[in-house]
Amino acid sequence: MSLSPLKITLLVDNNAPEELEKEHGFSAWIEAGDRRILFDTGQLGALQINAERLGINLGDADTLVLSHGHYDHTGTLPEVLDVNNKARIYMANNLNIDRWSNKPGTDPRSIGIPERSRQALLALPPERIHEIQTPLYVMPGVGVTGPVPRNSSVEDTGGPFYLDNASKDHDLIEDDQSMWFETDDGIIILLGCCHAGLVNTVDYIRRVSGKNKIRGIIGGMHLVNADDNRLNYTFDAMKEWQPEFLVPCHCTGEEQTVCMLDVIGDKIVKPGQAGMVIQG
Ligand SMILES: [Zn+2]
Ligand SMILES: [Zn+2]
Repeated sequence: MSLSPLKITLLVDNNAPEELEKEHGFSAWIEAGDRRILFDTGQLGALQINAERLGINLGDADTLVLSHGHYDHTGTLPEVLDVNNKARIYMANNLNIDRWSNKPGTDPRSIGIPERSRQALLALPPERIHEIQTPLYVMPGVGVTGPVPRNSSVEDTGGPFYLDNASKDHDLIEDDQSMWFETDDGIIILLGCCHAGLVNTVDYIRRVSGKNKIRGIIGGMHLVNADDNRLNYTFDAMKEWQPEFLVPCHCTGEEQTVCMLDVIGDKIVKPGQAGMVIQG
């Protein structure tokens, strides 16, 4: 299979060993055959520091996938584009809009793509940008979902997300997308924040790829605000998938990760951190 060798390195996460930087954000580096793919760009610059310390040259990426337009996934886009003038960028429609987190009792917080990242995208030649509405393969065996249908009534976007600072219009974060890798031993799924919901996302990738076996899931599972009903629903689905590994990262939530460890077990659940490498 053309995916061999497949190597996924976590570059940015909320957790990191001492020798690497941590921040609230996410990014991963994928080596698949002779292709190099950057998935998200973190928030504040841990990406550049960690990439350098891990010997990864961001200029080598031929593909950049943006999971969604939140500040912690699109934060250092200008710096990435400064060193990379070739990567084709795959993002879902409407990544580039204003977005807010309006928690009751606190001031509204602007959490969309930073203005400087927005400008950096707008300055690119249009042929480098692919706004996708439907799933596509960026190479054989490597897919990007585009917007994920929300079929489950149990899964919501996971927070007080709005398109305005007056809480008039809910932000469904329709641009939320994930990647999948079809290995000989099953599908490996890479999530940004998974605002579309983990079960929705896995169901969709199975349907689109026509492949059922889930080998592993890596990334932000955004269970941090999930109630017991949603947690149980998600854990039941995980048991049914029988994955080899689950690597909860970023916005999965500390307590929720502990629950996952309790319910699914530490043979399968390996909490992620920057520098972690998953080999296909
Ligand atoms: Zn996030
Ligand atoms: Zn997000």
